[in-house]
Amino acid sequence: MHIIKNKFVKFLSSSDWLLPEEKWSTSALGRIESAFTLGNGYLGMRGIYEEIPDGTEPGTYIAGVYDSAASMVTELVNAPNPIDFRIIVEGEKIDIGRMNVLYNKRILDMKNGFITRKTLFSDTKNRKFLYESLRFLSSQNPHIGVMQIYITALDKQAKIIVQDTIDDSVTNIGSLLEGRKRHTQLVEVSTSKDMNYLCVKTFTKKIWIAYASFLAISRGMGQGIGTLNKIFNMALKKSEPVCFTKIFCINTSKHIGHKDLKRNASKELRKAVRTGFEKLLGDHITVWHKKWQKADIRIEGDKEAQKALRFNIYHLLIAGKERDENVSIGARTLSGNGYGGHIFWDTEIFILPFFIYNFPRIARNLLLYRYHRLNAARRIAAQKGYKGVLFPWESADDGVESTPPYAKNLDGSIIEIRTMDYEHHIVSDIAFGVYHYFTATDDVRFMLQAGLEIIFETARFWASRVTYNSKRDIYEIKNAMGPDEFHEIVNNSAYVNKMAQWNLFKAADLYKVFCKNKKRLFRKIQKKLIISEKEIEDWRHIAKKIKIPYSSSKGILEEFEGYFKKKDVALAKFDDFFMPVLPHEVSIRDIGKTQIVKQADVTMLLYLLSHEFSEEEKRKNYLYYVTRTLHKSSLSPSIHSIVASEIKDTARGYAFFLFSLYGDLKNMFGNTAEGMHAASLGGTWQAVVMGFAGFRISKGLPSVEPRLPEHLKSIDFSLKWKGSEIKVKAGRKKIKLFVSGKKKGYILVKCFGSVHKVPFNAEYVAHS
Ligand code: BGC
Repeated sequence: MHIIKNKFVKFLSSSDWLLPEEKWSTSALGRIESAFTLGNGYLGMRGIYEEIPDGTEPGTYIAGVYDSAASMVTELVNAPNPIDFRIIVEGEKIDIGRMNVLYNKRILDMKNGFITRKTLFSDTKNRKFLYESLRFLSSQNPHIGVMQIYITALDKQAKIIVQDTIDDSVTNIGSLLEGRKRHTQLVEVSTSKDMNYLCVKTFTKKIWIAYASFLAISRGMGQGIGTLNKIFNMALKKSEPVCFTKIFCINTSKHIGHKDLKRNASKELRKAVRTGFEKLLGDHITVWHKKWQKADIRIEGDKEAQKALRFNIYHLLIAGKERDENVSIGARTLSGNGYGGHIFWDTEIFILPFFIYNFPRIARNLLLYRYHRLNAARRIAAQKGYKGVLFPWESADDGVESTPPYAKNLDGSIIEIRTMDYEHHIVSDIAFGVYHYFTATDDVRFMLQAGLEIIFETARFWASRVTYNSKRDIYEIKNAMGPDEFHEIVNNSAYVNKMAQWNLFKAADLYKVFCKNKKRLFRKIQKKLIISEKEIEDWRHIAKKIKIPYSSSKGILEEFEGYFKKKDVALAKFDDFFMPVLPHEVSIRDIGKTQIVKQADVTMLLYLLSHEFSEEEKRKNYLYYVTRTLHKSSLSPSIHSIVASEIKDTARGYAFFLFSLYGDLKNMFGNTAEGMHAASLGGTWQAVVMGFAGFRISKGLPSVEPRLPEHLKSIDFSLKWKGSEIKVKAGRKKIKLFVSGKKKGYILVKCFGSVHKVPFNAEYVAHS
């Protein structure tokens, strides 16, 4: 069927950027819809088929638009679906799930940010119809979406009915407790000139969402004539393609006043209509190319892994919003209903580094999202009797705790959720994200305006969260939960305590550094937070005496006090992806009685606080915990891969990498249908850059220490570093560097362990 030339072929990138959909099937539908999500940071739209085959889960998400619809948990709203386009040929719906399909191919063009499709249908009278489409969410104007569809009757003329809708009956799949839920009600449906207008509002928060849309029909090529009809009859002539071009514009009352919404949406839409399909697409592609120039990673030696890596990066790119300090990235991005669109520690620890080193401005926004919610976090802390800030374990728009009270456990049973009461490590994780951003950017202004306040208030939380044990002369953190959620309420978790210690020390150090400069803004923070020298000394004192559970006989950290007394169960069986399988004799209900770990916990520390552990300590700790970790979280494999790379557990490290790399592409976690796993996307990026290429910040300097797996020849990527850009080509024995920036002179970069003076704007090679 390749003889039929796809109308959109001229827009396609080369094949190494194209992700074709494998065979269409209802069982794979949800997963593919998530994988084929389009987005521009403002909007995310699942990659559904336009004719809405049975089982489709349309998802149109707008960053920051959450509602509770009188429910227990606030969730990301599934807004009306503008991609609902049905064609009926003499009583038969053109539908991938219903009609006879002779050929079907859909492609996600990751370089250019669009989906295109070609399907050849044959009806019950054996007449063939060629269906081709392309759609994208504009990267130039994020409010604009564009879809073009061609239908051609190949054998004979035929009569068709066309239905074009913006479907406002869509629902969220809903939480376990409530089932499906519609979050919007109608405000207005109207037409003006050749534009359709639909406005809905969310039930509880009363956010208005306005859609202005335009549909043009043309015979042959071109944009054609606009129509206001939503259902209309047409005749198809033999071999004459009919083209439908739909352009829509979405705006919400979050940014524009109710009264101006319609005017604004119409204005933006008309501008887009005047621009026309080809130019809109061209501009969109130009923006995409600029993004890839910053974010692409080329790995030499594994073509398949290369494409999969770009797939991970593509999804990070569509999740980051350029200019908004009030949205963050949820655990499932804007690609599905999973986790209600909530924001976890996944953002600061897993996703943020990608943005710090490629799009620091977006990274800054992600942190400002937390900053603007400090008062909500202060209230949570106060309610629980603590000082400073306690960030919600799951956050939505307003920064209040949004964790649902119940969830499904791994064995399908329903359990009460306790993460919101105990998983306080989110506090130091956010502080860690702030500091990471600062060290890579030197953004002093950000620190003075927001970052320091977060770091001081988080330290203050820990100082009030600890209890002093006078008998042992130690500070303890009791009743907490580390990343390993199999062990729910524990005392003195190594991860929690060590990160709290880091937070307290770092706050005290930063206070000293900024105090010296006596900047006006710093004095403002001091005044606002009423911080005294005595408080800073208390932070240091607590940090020094905080209990870090350690077994001297084993020579490793104990995950929490009492962990080593738990039943030690061997994880001896592995699945096809080398992931351990839970032994039959252990039930999920009783897993907390064993030493089996859900996800990287102590191992997480080995990575985040890497400089605090010797290679030998890393090896010992890693080897103990890796044989007890079940990886029942998408957050686990990437971190294991990084630590494995570092201690040269190469084969296992690569297996972990592949699991993370193909996490969503091959549905490794089993629930990609509910949306992409954002932490795994970011973790995969870190597994390449921090793991294989060995990039770290070492004593304030960028450091590259490649540990390439056998079959990889080199890794080629670039990083933003304190206002400059460092291009790195990391090979086994040499590292090529090119630092561009406005500065003169050189910067210091550590390569293979020794410091090099790398001049600006000239190629530099370091040998091992
Ligand atoms: C993990 C958490 C994670 C959450 C959202 C859970 O299964 O245990 O660490 O934050 O998923 O991704």
